[in-house]
Amino acid sequence: MSTYTGKLLRVNLTTGATAVESIPEQVVRDFMGPRGFGIKYLYDELKPGIDPLGPENKLFLGASMLGGTFGQGFAKWGVACKGPATGGFAKAVCGGDFGARLKIAGFDAIIIEGKAEKPSYIHIEGGKAQILDAAELWGLDTEETQDRLRQRHGPKTVAACIGPAGEKLAKYAAIVNDRRTASRCGTGTVMGSKNLKAVAVNAIGVIIPHEPQTFKRLSRELVESLKANQSRMGLTEFGTTTSMKKYSGERHMTPVRNFREGTLEGVERITHTEFNKFKIKDYGCYGCMTRCGKVRKVTEGPYAGIVTEGPEYEGIFALGAVIYNTDPGFIIAGEALCDLYGIDIISTGVCIAFACELFERGIISAKDADGLELTWGNHAAFYPLIEKIGKREGIGELLGEGVKRAAEQIGQGAERYAMNVKGIEMPGYEPRAVKGYALSYAVANIGSTHMWARPFSDLDYRTDPLADEGKGELVLLEATRQAIGDCITECVFGNRGLNLELRNQLLVAATGIEEFGDQAYLDEAGQRILCLERAFNIREGFSRKDDTLPSRFRTEPLLNAGPATGQTVRNLDGLIDEYYDAAGYARNGIPTPQRLKELGLEYVIGEIPASLP
Ligand code: SF4
Repeated sequence: MSTYTGKLLRVNLTTGATAVESIPEQVVRDFMGPRGFGIKYLYDELKPGIDPLGPENKLFLGASMLGGTFGQGFAKWGVACKGPATGGFAKAVCGGDFGARLKIAGFDAIIIEGKAEKPSYIHIEGGKAQILDAAELWGLDTEETQDRLRQRHGPKTVAACIGPAGEKLAKYAAIVNDRRTASRCGTGTVMGSKNLKAVAVNAIGVIIPHEPQTFKRLSRELVESLKANQSRMGLTEFGTTTSMKKYSGERHMTPVRNFREGTLEGVERITHTEFNKFKIKDYGCYGCMTRCGKVRKVTEGPYAGIVTEGPEYEGIFALGAVIYNTDPGFIIAGEALCDLYGIDIISTGVCIAFACELFERGIISAKDADGLELTWGNHAAFYPLIEKIGKREGIGELLGEGVKRAAEQIGQGAERYAMNVKGIEMPGYEPRAVKGYALSYAVANIGSTHMWARPFSDLDYRTDPLADEGKGELVLLEATRQAIGDCITECVFGNRGLNLELRNQLLVAATGIEEFGDQAYLDEAGQRILCLERAFNIREGFSRKDDTLPSRFRTEPLLNAGPATGQTVRNLDGLIDEYYDAAGYARNGIPTPQRLKELGLEYVIGEIPASLP
């Protein structure tokens, strides 16, 4: 017995074939879970140079490693593919209950290949999968889609689906499960490119760990240790909205007006205490006691009556600070739209900020924006703009491409205002105020995201966030720990204050794999995953030139940002050198043959030319 099923479901949408395969034990030991399995299968099976939106791309969905057990805060699941925005490795992580149900259905993962001739969905039940007609679902939003699937297959049906934005190939389309999204990197776009509306699962039961009694005892100990954590308790009350007061109001780390400034006038209107006034109930992913999700309802003003689960800190950044809005009702309503259309809220907000800056500088006009006055904070214009992006209508067609591609189409120097790394819009921490994030964004294999390597010690002032050196080891450690967490499907919120030793013992009791009790073994696995992701990208033509930041951060001093005022990222090259040295990459950003061998990735040598001995 083990929390691994050892089974992978392969579905070919072109041929209609489905097959159940065994996952080799060595792959389980070396790559551990969704993110690791995802890069291993994609590296092995995708030919370099394929179109991310062509039938040759594959969509990998990985179930929770401990899903379906009573382990606390391990319900997340992962998605991976070749990304439509970067052209390199893409991954996203999602909460909800899909991961646990997929595991209970008997699968550690699904690989979806090819392209369906017409809109389709996959239904999994009783250890089998069917490809079914989705004509009636096509065009529905993500809530309607899940409702309709429950009507068809029963009230306990759980689905991961796309909305209209994924169908229309917006480059930052998300996959939505229940009230949660796998939002970053355009995994929903790849799903849409396959004419795949949803993957629905019907499965009830529990997963029995390898050593049930030990697992039970350790789970209880873990719960007791988590109960005492104040920070985690704050999440139960407020969700991640508490970060707004800390990172924006006090530490000036939240980007304002398209990453020009660090202070948001009126931030007190959109802090956790204000958002709590809209709370109507809590929401939790499968089996989670923290329940950091907050369902909120707008009570007055133009958005009165709109209900959504959210926003989180990143949503407040995206529909608040970066577009200079402090109306909480709009943030709630805008988040609802993003979730229903199935678009990443961070990319959406940064696309709006980009459009506002172009509007301010006269590069685009109201005529270009379908009559919308895109002035800072003008949420009356932003609400229809989000709808246009979700439907890909008018200016929404252009902005649905993401800031990098949109800027290339607009020309006139618009690239200077397109805040992205490798084609992914930047998240809610100002890199000039948090140099650990400057480095993390630049070197992330998937483009700039806040959860690739979160530099906790910079954020909490345990290290100097403004220091221009000494970040290489920090970013490597956090990137490694995140890669492990994405395999264990461990929630960074629900597991605040997690005792790693206890967690590792739990993994052994769950899986029966003794090596998982050794943190050094897990760290090596995490670095193996990072290294293979990088190799995937290098095979696609990436190199050091892609590990960079927009010129704004290197040349324009940050404005109005407390102690970070006047900061630039002066030493990006030095920071990157530090990271490469720590990770075992040559100064061209390519893993050395020696490092590849140490990590058991010999087969990569020779496939990435610059690593030849
Ligand atoms: S803490 Fe929040 S995100 Fe994490 S598992 Fe619980 S409800 Fe989901």
